[in-house]
This record gives sequence, structure tokens and C-alpha cells, in this order.
Amino acid sequence: MLGGIALAVVAALLFNNSLTQAPPQNPNNASSQIPYSELLSNVRQDRVTKIDIFDNGRTGVVSMRDPINGTPSRFRVNLLAGDQAFYPLLRDKNVDITIYPPNNSGALMGLLQTLLLPILLLAGLFFLLRRSGGGAGGPGQAMSFGKSKARFQMDAKTGIKFDDVAGIDEAKVELQEVVQFLKKPERFTAVGAKIPKGVLLVGPPGTGKTLLAKAIAGEAGVPFFSISGSEFVEMFVGVGASRVRDLFKKAKENAPCIIFIDEIDAVGRSRGAGIGGGNDEREQTLNQLLVEMDGFEGNAGVIVIAATNRPDVLDAAIMRPGRFDRQVTVDRPDFKGRLEILKVHARNKKLLPDVSLERVARRTPGYSGADLSNVLNESAILAARRRLEAISFKEIDDAIDRISTGLVRPPLVDGKKKRLIAYHEVGHALVGTLLAEGDPLSKVTIIPRGGGTGGFAQFYPSEEMIDSGMYSRSWIMARIITALGGRAAEEIVFGEDEVTVGASSDIQNVARLAKDMVTRFGMSDLGPISLTGQGSEVFLGRDLMSRSECSEEVAQQVDHQIREIVEFCHSEAKRLLSENRDLLDRLVDLLIDKETLEGQEFRDIVAQKIPLTERHKNASAITA
Ligand code: ADP
Ligand code: ZN
Repeated sequence: MLGGIALAVVAALLFNNSLTQAPPQNPNNASSQIPYSELLSNVRQDRVTKIDIFDNGRTGVVSMRDPINGTPSRFRVNLLAGDQAFYPLLRDKNVDITIYPPNNSGALMGLLQTLLLPILLLAGLFFLLRRSGGGAGGPGQAMSFGKSKARFQMDAKTGIKFDDVAGIDEAKVELQEVVQFLKKPERFTAVGAKIPKGVLLVGPPGTGKTLLAKAIAGEAGVPFFSISGSEFVEMFVGVGASRVRDLFKKAKENAPCIIFIDEIDAVGRSRGAGIGGGNDEREQTLNQLLVEMDGFEGNAGVIVIAATNRPDVLDAAIMRPGRFDRQVTVDRPDFKGRLEILKVHARNKKLLPDVSLERVARRTPGYSGADLSNVLNESAILAARRRLEAISFKEIDDAIDRISTGLVRPPLVDGKKKRLIAYHEVGHALVGTLLAEGDPLSKVTIIPRGGGTGGFAQFYPSEEMIDSGMYSRSWIMARIITALGGRAAEEIVFGEDEVTVGASSDIQNVARLAKDMVTRFGMSDLGPISLTGQGSEVFLGRDLMSRSECSEEVAQQVDHQIREIVEFCHSEAKRLLSENRDLLDRLVDLLIDKETLEGQEFRDIVAQKIPLTERHKNASAITA
């Protein structure tokens, strides 16, 4: 207790001191300005004792002390609001932080100022007590911030139904089950089925991931809790974790319910991505999320739905069984999907009877659901501006023009580019389907996606293979040949000079697979040896390590083996496609027309010319 009083006195002195010296309410009081970089280096050199933060973290007034003669000085700094390493650094260096509310108008300010001192006093006291109690850097620090501004939203009734979501039928079918889990959990638990805890929705922005999650809640008639991953990651270490805790607590009290985490990649990036300046705030938040998810039983009635468009950067721990063990892809809609979405959004719009939504859908390849809803909305605004009774095709046309110039990915109008992408993707799909060991095709599409991909061919890898980890040599070879099929088709049809960079990620995949064959699986002429160390946890310079472990001579042999594998596979891909050029052309024409071909549709066409091998013949059982 005595300690508490002493601290209170210290705090009082501290505040009085700073107030008499120079009232910090106005950052302009500081004599001169220094650059942010200079601030950082001064903090690192332990010269900074105190920082006052203004304007929602954009401006700071820094108190420094000369290390030699102890002279104090104050400077003004423009802060970088997005620098997430900043506050952890201040904390490490024990810099006192005071945050001032944004400057308001005079009279109110006067009143506030009189109130401010006692409040700040208490806050300062609280901080000091925390620090002395929890030990420096303890995880409990600044914990109460999460509580005081719980930033998740709760929707008791979303009012959204599956009917409002269109054009993403596969995702809808997969998620219909989740509604049943929420509505009738007994039915599943009675037979011993484990109810999934987490579903990860993967897809580009605006494709309806949030809408789907809301529809699940709406259909099941349960509350909808939502938060965005970027909101978790706040200034103070520990805030995100405490928000996660609050969120799950509230959700459990309201079970059955849905927790929706948008942009989960903001918290869920691979941990340890960076030596030294690692972001411990994000890691703590992620850890807390994992702890919460592990902590409740599936039948507690809380289902967590997360959304991302960057599944590749997610930490592997997130996908572990019992967490987000279901992954559902939400793609940009194809022609049919776009038509369905337009129909949904046309419901409450007044369209002239001769407006053909089909024509609109044809004009909008690459548009997401959000883009389409935007098109109809804009056209309604245009119609109102033009004082029309109803929307005509002209307004829609103008709205598309207006929106498409603002879209990042231009729809594929360029005939040659579209053909080239179609050949590339059909190249993958056809090679994969012709190979006995190839995986069955799920679909091939030329609908542009984020990240610069013009389309993709998707396969179903065999589940036994993945589960057992027993990859056979011929299976890996088939994957390499398939991956090279895209580039091979471009070469055959457009000549070697015309090949594009569109295949660069294919080439990387190929290089990785071929290297694994030689150095990890012992599947080359070098024989059954493993040349990599087991230390794959070392995330920096993994390749460097494995290199230096073997001699220069062996390294050369490895390179040689890799090249042989790749060359062989490349010529196989070219051979398969050249021998079936007619099929290739036919499938490309069809794909250009329809934008997406389902696996079964594709196989049926191939089978008209070449008998399918067992794996592909039985594919409908998997892909159905
Ligand atoms: P995401 O979460 O994938 O970024 P949203 O669910 O927030 O996308 O979509 C934004 C809006 O776009 C929705 O509220 C809806 O009006 C419209 N929209 C997007 N996808 C669809 C869809 N598949 N069907 C109907 N409307 C959609
Ligand atoms: Zn490719």
C-alpha cells in the first residue's frame, strides 16, 4: 500500500512537472521538429524519456535527455501511424507514453483540461502500478484497453438469407451444413460426429464472403459477431489478445452463434517472419485466437468463420485439425454466377422490361459480386439523375464504363491475351487429364483473379496420397508435367518467342518439386539419399543451409539431376499437347466462350477422342 502512495506522489509530481514546464496539450509548444528516423535512433540509444502523443497518434512531443550532461530538451515529431513496431520499441525502452485526445474547440477544451489532470493522474498511476506489478514486458500489460473499447460488432439478427447470396453455389452447398450444425447440433453429436469449429473462406474481396457468413447466421437464426483482423492489431501489445478473449467470452454467452473474422491474414500471418523486430502484438493475438479455439468444444455452438484472400501467408497452425479445418473457396463468379447475382440485386430496382441482365453479365467478366451490385446501384443513381421512371440499358452501360475504369483488373476484352490465357490453362488441364497419374480436374477458368492471374486450372489431389504423405515418384512427375503444360501450350501455339511471364509461378512450383525429388525423397539417379537437414524451422536462409551441408560436387550433381527431370517433363508436356492439338484447340474455343469448364464437362470432351484412364474415369465420384 505504501508503495502505491509513493507511486501516486511520483505520478503527481511527474504530471505537475510536465504541466508547469510546458503544457503538452498543444504539440506546437515544442521548440523544433525532428524527423521520425531521428526519433527512432534516439529511442534506441535510450535518450528518450517521455513521449506525448497527439492527433490520434500522428504527432508526438518527445522529451529527451542528453546522456552526457543530462540537459533536457523537447521536440516535435510527425509519427508514422502505421508503424506497428513503434510502440513495442517504446515499451522495451521504458519510455513514458501519454496519449492526448484530439484537439476540440475552446470552451469544451477548457472544461476538459480541468478534468484532464485528475484523469491522467489516475491513468498514470494505473500504468505505473501495472508496470511495477507485472514486471517489465509481462503479458498482462495494458490489458484493460481491450475491454474498454470492445471493437467487435454484434448483430442479433442479420436478416440475410441464402437467397440473397448468388453465383457461388459450391460454397453455399458446403456451408448449408454449418446451418444444420447450429440449428440441430444434437443430430450430429448423437452419432458421434464432431462439429467443426472453424471455416476459412478464401477468395478475392467483394465476392460475398461476409455476406455468406451473415447468411449462415440468418438462416440458423443465431447472432453474428464480427471483427476485422486489422482491428485486432492495435498500438499496444496485449490489446489484440484481450479483444480476442472478450469476443469469445461474449460469443460463448450467446451460443449458438457465429464469430466472423474478416481479413484474418492481418493476425494470422506466419509467425517468426523476421528476426529481431518480430511483431509480438500480432503473435500474441494469434496465439490467443488459437488458445480460444482449442479451448471450446465443437458442440459449444460457436462456429468461427474467417475470411482471407491471402491463404498463402497464413500460419500453418491456423489450419491444424480442430481449428479452421474446413476451407471453402469463394471465387469470382462466371457468366452464370454473374447473371444470378444481377438477378438478386435487380429485385429492388426498377428496370425497363427490355433490359437484358444476360447482356449485362456478358459485359462484366471478372466482376465480383460487390462490383455487380455496384453497377446496378450506380445505374439507379444515373436514372434518378436523368429523371427517368426506370433504369434502361443505357444507364447500366454507362455505369459499367464508369466502374470498369476504376477497377484494378480490366475485364478480358483483348482477344489475343484472352486466347493466350485460355491456351495456357487448357494446357494444364489437358495434360493433367491425359496422364494416368494426373489428378482429376476440378475446373478450368479464365476469369481473372487478384494478384495478376488471368485464370487457373484446379485439380483434386488424391486424398489418400495427401493423408498418408506417400507420394509416389510417378505422381510427383505427373504434377510437374501438368505444371509445365501451361507454358508448353503457349510455346506450341504462339511460338517460343511469345511465351509470357504468366507461367512464372508454375516454374517455381516445378523447381521446388523437382528439387524435393532429388534432395528430399531420394528419387533420382543419385539414389536414396536425403540432402537436406531436418532443421526446416530455421526460416531464414533455409536453402542456404542445405546447400552448405553438401559439397560443391554433390551440389552440381543435384543441379544436373533437377535439370534432367524438368527437361524430361517439359518434353512430355509438349508431346502430349502436340499429339492432341485438335483437342486443345477445341477446348480452348469452348473455354473462351464459357469462361469456366467444370472437370466433368472437360473430361467428357476428352473422352470422345481418347479413353480416360481409371483415376479420371472415377473422378466424378470425387468431384461430384
Ligand atoms: P467480401 O466479404 O468477400 O469482401 P462482401 O460479402 O462484403 O464481400 O460483399 C459486399 C457486397 O457485395 C455484399 O453486401 C453484396 O451486396 C454484394 N455481393 C458480393 N457477393 C455477392 C454474391 N455472391 N451474391 C450477391 N451479392 C453479393
Ligand atoms: Zn499456369
